[in-house]
Amino acid sequence: MNPLRTLILAAAGNDTIRHLVATAPVSRDVVRRFVAGETTQDAVHATRGLVESGLSVTLDYLGEDTTDRDQAERTVQAYLELLDKLHSDGLADRAEVSVKLSAVGQALDERLALENASRICAAAEQAGTTVTLDMEDHTTTDSTLGTLRELRRSWPWVGGVLQSYLHRTLDDATALSGEGSRIRLCKGAYNEPESVAYIDQHDVDLSYVRCANALLSGEGYPMFATHDPRLIEIIGERARWYGRKPGSYEYQMLYGVRPDEQRRLAGSGETVRVYIPYGEEWYGYLMRRMAERPANTAFFLRSLVSK
Ligand code: FAD
Repeated sequence: MNPLRTLILAAAGNDTIRHLVATAPVSRDVVRRFVAGETTQDAVHATRGLVESGLSVTLDYLGEDTTDRDQAERTVQAYLELLDKLHSDGLADRAEVSVKLSAVGQALDERLALENASRICAAAEQAGTTVTLDMEDHTTTDSTLGTLRELRRSWPWVGGVLQSYLHRTLDDATALSGEGSRIRLCKGAYNEPESVAYIDQHDVDLSYVRCANALLSGEGYPMFATHDPRLIEIIGERARWYGRKPGSYEYQMLYGVRPDEQRRLAGSGETVRVYIPYGEEWYGYLMRRMAERPANTAFFLRSLVSK
């Protein structure tokens, strides 16, 4: 892995650096480029703007690795409030939510995470929208896929995420390509060991294409989460090859990343969903975005010193 990426991902888990960055006079604009804001109102405002420009949305209330029940409960409450607001504002048909199980108690007790995720799914059903479970580091993959299976018994539309950097993912993609399944395919954002993950980016990309083929050739609804122009082009070609019409799969990109490309794809008739993170816990998320792209890091560091 690129040393800068390793360094920044280490900083994401370092409490001292976390405190320094969180209290530094970071330009509001820098954080705002990637994070919609801290409140439900901010999230709904960003959602409305994107929906009005023809995009769909998935919202992530930031917070992960919760080790206390009260914090997990606050996360559930934030999702319930958000879903209620999406419904009352008439946005629920174009805006769903993404949930990290670690934010609702997975590390404390898997059953608590399942119960909390179930409450969010029930609220999403009432609001008329869907939920996707984000995927975190490889130590949680089995637990998260197990919870996805459980949730899908009651809510068959609950989506999951697979990461092409993991060796196991082609098998998972094949197993999860059946009717009704909604699977987001991404490269993967965590610092994984060579024993479980491809380290060379080219291998990660090749795996992405193999997994995309498995999903497109199945009966489910694949969601291709990438900003990579080459992969976006290949997916378009593979979708046509498998006779997939736009709307029987979708592209997904992160809030603030390649917004012109998001609009271009949507303008060409594709479904494009933008992943909007919001909430007070923006630090870990921002660090992962920095790790992915040195240009983002330079932009961020410049704003730190120029304040
Ligand atoms: P990269 O390998 O980062 O970049 C490839 C190419 O894309 C670059 O060379 C460049 O041409 C272009 N590009 C990338 N970033 C930019 C930019 N900022 N500006 C301009 N061009 C750019 N990861 C998880 O582990 N679990 C999840 O649940 C998860 N959910 C996600 C949901 C969505 C909607 C998205 C988009 C990503 C998600 N990720 C998740 C993150 C993902 O795993 C990758 O870390 C992230 O998307 C970067 O990979 P990439 O495919 O965009 O390509």
